[in-house]
Amino acid sequence: MTPVSYERPIIDPPEGGHRKVLLHSCCAPCSGEVMEAMTAAGIDYTIFFYNPNIHPRKEYELRKEENIRFAEKNGVPFVDADYDTDNWFARAKGLEWEPERGARCTMCFDMRFERTALYAHENGFPVITSCLGISRWKNMDQINDCGRRAAAKYPGLIYWTYNWRKKGGAQRMLEISKREQFYQQEYCGCIYSLRDTNAWRLKNGRGKIKLGVKFYGREESDVPATPRPSD
Ligand code: SF4
Repeated sequence: MTPVSYERPIIDPPEGGHRKVLLHSCCAPCSGEVMEAMTAAGIDYTIFFYNPNIHPRKEYELRKEENIRFAEKNGVPFVDADYDTDNWFARAKGLEWEPERGARCTMCFDMRFERTALYAHENGFPVITSCLGISRWKNMDQINDCGRRAAAKYPGLIYWTYNWRKKGGAQRMLEISKREQFYQQEYCGCIYSLRDTNAWRLKNGRGKIKLGVKFYGREESDVPATPRPSD
C-alpha cells in the first residue's frame, strides 16, 4: 500500500449511527478524501455519479473515468447515472449570467441531489451525502440546504452534512490528488463557468483552458490553478 504523509482522525458515522451511505460525487479529486475518510470509519458506501452540468462531453468523460479508476482501485461500487444535459439546460434557462455560488448553482445542486435522493430511496440507502463541499470554491451552507431539501422528499432519508474540509480534509484532498495524479479540472463544470473562467484568464494574460492536459502531481502541470471569476 502507498504510504501517506498525514494523520487521519476517524470520523463519527452519520446521525442514527447508519453505516450505509450513497455518496454523490462530482469528480475524483473531490471524492478521494471523502472516500478514504469513510473507508477508515468503516462506512459502507457507494458512489453515485450524476453530473449533467459538466460541459463539454469530453470533460464529463475525463472526470467520470478518473472517478471510476479510483473507485475500481478501492473496490467501491460506482453507479454511473444519466448525462441528461437537456434537463440541466432547461433548468438553467434564465440563470446563464448568475455568478458562481448564485441561483444557478442552487439549481445545479438541487438537480443532482434530487436524483441522488431518488436513487437512495429506491435502493435502500438511509443516508446520502456529497463531496461537493470539500472544494474551497463552494458555499457549504448552500450545498447543505440543497442536500437537506432533496432528502426531505423521502421519509427517513438523511442528508449527511459533515464538513469534509475540516480537520485537515482539504489538505488531504490535495495530497491524495497528487499521490493519485488525478486529472485536474480548471473550472467548476458547466458551460457558463467555462465561459467565465476563460474570460478571467484572457483578461489576466493566460490562454484559454485546455481540456485533458493538467494532472495533480505532474511537474508539467505544476502551475497555479485558475482563480474563480467570482473570487
Ligand atoms: S458553476 Fe458549477 S455548481 Fe454552479 S451551475 Fe455551473 S457547474 Fe453547477
